[in-house]
Amino acid sequence: MTSLQPIRGTHDILPDEYPRFAQVVETAREVSRLYGYREMATPIFETTEVFARTSGETSDVVMKQMYSFTDRGGDPLTLRPEYTAGICRAFITNGQQQNLPFKVFAWGPMFRYERPQKGRYRQFHQLDIEVIGSPEPAADVEVIAVGADILDRLGLLADCTLEINSLGDPESRAAHRKVLIDYFKAHIGKLSEDSRARLERNPLRIFDSKDEGDRALLPDAPLLTGYLTPAAKEIFAAVLRGLDDIGIKYHVNPHLVRGLDYYTHAAFEFVTNRLGAQGTVLAGGRYDGLIEQLGGAPTPATGWAAGIERLMMLAQEPKPAPRPVALVPLGEAAERKALVLARDLRRRGIAVELDYKGNMKRRLQRANKVNARAAVILGDNELAKGVAAVKDLDKGEQHEVALHSLAEALSA
Ligand code: ATP
Ligand code: MG
Repeated sequence: MTSLQPIRGTHDILPDEYPRFAQVVETAREVSRLYGYREMATPIFETTEVFARTSGETSDVVMKQMYSFTDRGGDPLTLRPEYTAGICRAFITNGQQQNLPFKVFAWGPMFRYERPQKGRYRQFHQLDIEVIGSPEPAADVEVIAVGADILDRLGLLADCTLEINSLGDPESRAAHRKVLIDYFKAHIGKLSEDSRARLERNPLRIFDSKDEGDRALLPDAPLLTGYLTPAAKEIFAAVLRGLDDIGIKYHVNPHLVRGLDYYTHAAFEFVTNRLGAQGTVLAGGRYDGLIEQLGGAPTPATGWAAGIERLMMLAQEPKPAPRPVALVPLGEAAERKALVLARDLRRRGIAVELDYKGNMKRRLQRANKVNARAAVILGDNELAKGVAAVKDLDKGEQHEVALHSLAEALSA
């Protein structure tokens, strides 16, 4: 047998590390609730079409990152590379059109076949926020505010820059597309193979290329900004005004495009310089055409996703969990009584550590190891009197407490 290893690009989250993970999810859950977003989840896999139709045939995700397979029934399936397409599919197939705006928060694992490196994995986790059914710039401002508040609570906002750009409407894009194709055609020899393949289908994608040759062509490439229709310009200006009004700082970056093809109007990224090339922690934008592409009625929408692992690496240490008390029974009768007491205390919300076996020394060592705040010592003498000796493990003080008032005494 070959040696047993986790799959490349996957990682375990062990108990020591899990509180950092949980802190990110719980912070996002709490902040999104304050803004009126309801939590939901969708399946980890969907028919391949759900992603192929929406992410765009020229996106990295569809060109080379999807984990696709045929199941035993012959259906082409894909492990979700992102949440938005699945949530939109769920919105349509569950008839949520009567329920607008549909404001949701979700989190869970995503799968992309990428070259693993720090902050880039094949199974990773995302937070996700979507507002479906609102064309108003106020919705864009709100989703950005949710993101900013989550980053702020995690202690990261000061280290992040909000980059924002308008990807315009279809009319703006069509006008820009022509000049952009001409520009890249004039330098076709310097374009990467991937970008040559994208050129006729979606030249804007080249702005998101990680190839150095492609990147060298970008400073002189014609920008979409110069081709925005007056309507698209006004929509973008309204988003920026909204951000100004609530005091969220941003940097308009006319080179910003997004990794997936479905974005229109405001697209944005919160970027930090603390993670090298993997500096984008939270990214999203408006995707007014996506639901129609999936077969639903035209419905405007906006949202974002954030990489939980990237946030975990940056966030401050989470608050420690409440400390348990350790029960220390001595002898068989006390051990049996301890099981009853432990269950009673736990049912009253007190965390209890109770070893399956061991003498006093061993049990007290264990109590130290789990950082117990108190040891509840139960010997034959105590049992006979109906009391326990409760030792404060920080102060070293010890006193007797009647068993029937243990929960009360330990609740402090
Ligand atoms: P990148 O340019 O870094 O490849 P992307 O544009 O592909 O990112 P999105 O599809 O917008 O990323 O995903 C949103 C967020 O999810 C990213 O900003 C990042 O924080 C996180 N993310 C994306 N891919 C990975 C991955 N392979 N491993 C860990 N986190 C990821
Ligand atoms: Mg990517």
